[in-house]
Parts: sequence; structure tokens; C-alpha cells
Amino acid sequence: MIAASYACPNTLEEAVAALADPAAMVIAGGTDLMVKGRTRNSYVARALVDVTGVNEMRGVTVHDGLLDIGAAEPLASLVESKVVRSLSPVLWQAVRSVGGVQTRNRATLGGNLANACPAADGICACVALGALIKVVGSQGERTIDASELFRPCPACLAHEGMLVRTCLFADPREKKTTLEPGELIARVLVPQRAEGELGSYVRLSTNRGIGLASVTASAIVVREQDGTVRLARACVGGVLPAPRALEGSELPLVGTKLENADVLRCSKSLGTIMDEECSRLANGSYKRRVAPVVLGDALRALGQEGEDVPGVPGLRRIAVPSWEEDR
Ligand SMILES: Cc1cc2nc3c(=O)[nH]c(=O)nc-3n(C[C@H](O)[C@H](O)[C@H](O)COP(=O)(O)OP(=O)(O)OC[C@H]3O[C@@H](n4cnc5c(N)ncnc54)[C@H](O)[C@@H]3O)c2cc1C
Repeated sequence: MIAASYACPNTLEEAVAALADPAAMVIAGGTDLMVKGRTRNSYVARALVDVTGVNEMRGVTVHDGLLDIGAAEPLASLVESKVVRSLSPVLWQAVRSVGGVQTRNRATLGGNLANACPAADGICACVALGALIKVVGSQGERTIDASELFRPCPACLAHEGMLVRTCLFADPREKKTTLEPGELIARVLVPQRAEGELGSYVRLSTNRGIGLASVTASAIVVREQDGTVRLARACVGGVLPAPRALEGSELPLVGTKLENADVLRCSKSLGTIMDEECSRLANGSYKRRVAPVVLGDALRALGQEGEDVPGVPGLRRIAVPSWEEDR
């Protein structure tokens, strides 16, 4: 891969200064960027700014009920982290699902989000969990909801749809995220798991090895003592123009006991949303059939059919996903 220049700042201030150059763009682990750079030589004129050495973008801390994760922290270190596993088991499961060990050793959470790939594992979990993203640029810093990071992009669904494996936009800022030129993701703030909260993360991949999912689904619920659902939120990746939280009337679970009929109602609701919003979705008829099933499995995991993932309190799974039964 050829680039015009390569800078390795040590501080956020230096990184932001380097990104003031209109030709500059961030490189973190390079696991997305290098693939595009090699196949399309997209970065010949780009000044790459490597953020992996920026101290303020590393490490994991806990404060104010939030897990505060450096955007340049490698995914492998988040998988190893007992703090991430115990305080945000759903995020832990999602980052654990990214690629293989070699990819996770390099890949970062910031890169996973900023790459704005509809079926990336990180965004689905972050949206379901109500995570916040700390963005820093020359104008200062701001915090956005994870669901505000992606620009709704029907074109992405048509050309990308997660069967074409890499995005056609070399720089996600050009089309796909709400980051302004010169801005970067510095940290990701994930609400710590609440008392009694159960979560799940499910993905369906058309290839059984490592690689991007076709559809992802993440769900969390908090239930009353008698089992009535008090809070429910989910996200489905790879199908909607931009990942967003499904809750309220789009995920009619509050007040129910999370029985099979309740799960089916939610799957049906997703089908209706897809019919309305996803007419251009690549491989649409396949995804229209499977996405409600994947969401259903993420929800069923939280009910009677689910089981605890051993050693990870709060994380649930189902022993046999629906699509496995067909094999
Ligand atoms: C073999 C293989 C398997 C993979 N499997 C999966 C998978 O299963 N699931 C999945 O989700 N992904 C997968 N990926 C994609 C990729 O590994 C992840 O998206 C990864 O997290 C990207 O992070 P990175 O640090 O390598 O990003 P980079 O490649 O360094 O950057 C990606 C993009 O994000 C921008 N960027 C990076 N960091 C920041 C930041 N802090 N602020 C602003 N912009 C930033 C860059 O400018 C670039 O446009 C796979 C990739 C490979 C090569």
C-alpha cells in the first residue's frame, strides 16, 4: 500500500493537528484500511495519521457508571479484559466475534465503528447498549450517541449489503459517518451493565470461518422480580440504512413476560420495518427472511429458552440458533 506520508503522534493534540491537513486520514489497526489500500490503491495521496500510539486513545477505565474505552485499544486487549467482560458482557461478546486472533490483535474498536460497515460487530452492540462516542477535532470535543455515528445510506445497503465485503468509500467520512473533516473517535463510553440486566449478541455469517457477519443482532432487557420486562432495547446490523436502537413500539416487549409470542411479535415488527426501509438492500430477499429470525434468537436467549454463557454473568445465548436447525 502506498501513501503520501505516515505520521505517528503520541498525543491527541498532535493527532488533531496532523488531521488538520485536508489530505490526512486516521489509520488505527489498518485491518480495513490496508485491505482497501492494497486492492484499490486508494491512499496514494493521503497523509496517514497512525493513532495507535496516542496515549489518550488507549486503556480502559471505569467512572460514573461508564466503561471508558480508548478507541485505539486493540480488540484483543478488550477480549482479555476482565473489566470489559464483567461490566459489558454484550460488548465483550461482540468484539470477540470480530475476525480471528490475528485481526483482533491489530483491529481497534474506533476503527470498527468509524469504518461504518453496516454489519460490523461493534456498532450493533454499542447501539443496543446505548453507548456514547467521544469525538475530538480542532473545534474541541463532542459526545454523540452511537446511533448517530452512521449516516443513513441506502446506497450502502445496495452496494455493500455485506456480500460485497469491503466498502466502496475509501474514507468513511466522505459518505458514511457524521464525523467532520479532521475529527476522530477518541473514546467509546459504554454504560456499565445494570443490576438484573441480561444481554445477548448473535450473528449470522454466510461463511463459517472468520469474517464479517451477514446480519448481527444484540438485545438487552431488564425484568421485574415477577419476570415482566421493564426495559428492552435491541439493534440489528447489516439490514437498515443506519443502525438504530429498536425500542418502544418497534420492539414491543415492555410489560410482557418475554414469551415466544412476544418474541414473534418483535420479529414481525422488524420485518415490517425492513419492508418500509430496505427496498434496495443487497441480497434483500435473503436478509428479509433471516434478519427477523436472528433478532428472534437474540431475544429468545433472554427468555426461557436461553442459557447463561458460563463464567459471563448477564450474557445469554441459545444452545441451538434457529438457522442451525436447518443444517
Ligand atoms: C480477515 C478479516 C476479518 C474481519 N472480520 C471482521 C468481523 O468479523 N467483524 C467486523 O466487524 N469486522 C471485521 N473485519 C474488519 C476490521 O477488522 C474491523 O472493522 C476493525 O475493527 C477495524 O479496525 P482498525 O483499527 O483495523 O481500522 P483501520 O483499518 O485502521 O481503519 C478503518 C477506517 O476507520 C477510520 N478510523 C480508524 N480509527 C479511527 C478513529 N479512532 N477515529 C476516526 N476514524 C478512524 C480509518 O480512517 C479508516 O477509514 C475483518 C477484517 C479482516 C481483514
